[in-house]
Amino acid sequence: MKRRIYGHFIIIALTIIAVLVVLLTGIFYNLSKNQVMDSLKVEANMISGSLITDNLNQNIQVLDRYQDIVRITLIDSDGTVLYDNEADVNTMENHLGRLEVMEAIAQGTGEAIRTSDTLNKDTFYYAVAFPNGYILRVARDAYNLRAFYQRTIVPILLTVAGILLLCLVLTVFMTRAILRPIEDYSKNLEKPDYRVAYKELVPFADTIRAQHAAILKSAKMRQDFTANVSHELKTPLTSISGYAEMMENGMASDQEILHFSKEIHKNATRLLTLINDIIKLSELDNIECVLSFEMVDVNAIAKRCIEDLSVNAKKNHVNFKYQGESCLIRANAEMITELIYNLCDNAIRYNKENGNVLLSIQQLEHNAQIRVADTGIGIADHHRDRIFERFYRVDKSRSTQTGGTGLGLAIVKHIVNLHEGKLTLESEERKGTTIVVTL
Ligand code: ADP
Repeated sequence: MKRRIYGHFIIIALTIIAVLVVLLTGIFYNLSKNQVMDSLKVEANMISGSLITDNLNQNIQVLDRYQDIVRITLIDSDGTVLYDNEADVNTMENHLGRLEVMEAIAQGTGEAIRTSDTLNKDTFYYAVAFPNGYILRVARDAYNLRAFYQRTIVPILLTVAGILLLCLVLTVFMTRAILRPIEDYSKNLEKPDYRVAYKELVPFADTIRAQHAAILKSAKMRQDFTANVSHELKTPLTSISGYAEMMENGMASDQEILHFSKEIHKNATRLLTLINDIIKLSELDNIECVLSFEMVDVNAIAKRCIEDLSVNAKKNHVNFKYQGESCLIRANAEMITELIYNLCDNAIRYNKENGNVLLSIQQLEHNAQIRVADTGIGIADHHRDRIFERFYRVDKSRSTQTGGTGLGLAIVKHIVNLHEGKLTLESEERKGTTIVVTL
């Protein structure tokens, strides 16, 4: 970034310097041209004021007095050169065609500038016509623009180099001064009250800070998840390994072997359920795998879940009821099955003896509403926000005993988010819980 800023500054500085050099030399050259012409006019007027007679010889004597000041030419009305203090009049051609002479004959005065490319000089001419037909012309040489550049190129280049160096030094200081608050901000992203110095950057800085916080949070969640997974896997594996070892060493009686086998089976089932839930969550995390949405009837899915769960409900002495109507939405059928199953399974597992569970499906305009209400143990206020976190359980032993993994509601929340749906939870301790999902 710094290099780009330096590059841009140098290009801008070079352009400005080049434009300034061309512009200023043009202005100075024009000023000096005007000055030369003005001084020629003054001298022409002064000399013509001295020519008070019509006698050529007397006039030539007067003109001789000015020969060191300026080049003087006296021309007859027919263009013949009568006098020139710098050239032989006999070799000079007729001057009637010269611009300044033609202008002087027509208007009384005339001027012209002729450039000599070989000498790199401009010659300035000013002519005055007299009533008797004589024309007095004065002339002076001055360096032209090319000569001006040739003579001044070294100081110009030195000045440009000096200005460029100054620009470079200033650019380095300015860039550092501009970027320092941004660098400081990036180093202090974790301090919530550290503000970026430029108010224009506040929205950008807030977005970066929010993203940074989200990245840290997600990294922490992953870390916690890995730690939790390891812990959850370790407990049933330790049991399985312990029982198997005792059986292997012949330390168990026939009756104990039966009991140990049951325990091994129970823990292996728990492991399988846990691994299944972890796989489901990781599939949901990988959005690309779950984008196959189609028109599904939520009511038909709910009916299939009821069949599967009614055995569970009977085992737990819970009355499981259902109310529903055909309800079509665009969704992923597998995920909707998982969502209804998890909510109803929880409502049965966290219920009381002879408690009730009511699953209702309703079509609300273009949405489906899935409502699971139970008269179970309920959830205390301070747990409500956390039960959707992975592995968070209000009562871990009850969850484990009933085959819970602590991932059911995390999966539900994920599915609702992927369907851009809404989830609300109402619960009162010892009275029951109602979860409503609108998709
Ligand atoms: P688990 O596998 O432990 O059931 P969930 O993620 O499904 O995990 O639920 C998280 C926790 O929320 C549960 O351990 C339980 O304490 C509480 N919970 C979930 N549903 C209910 C409910 N219907 N009634 C009471 N508590 C519930």
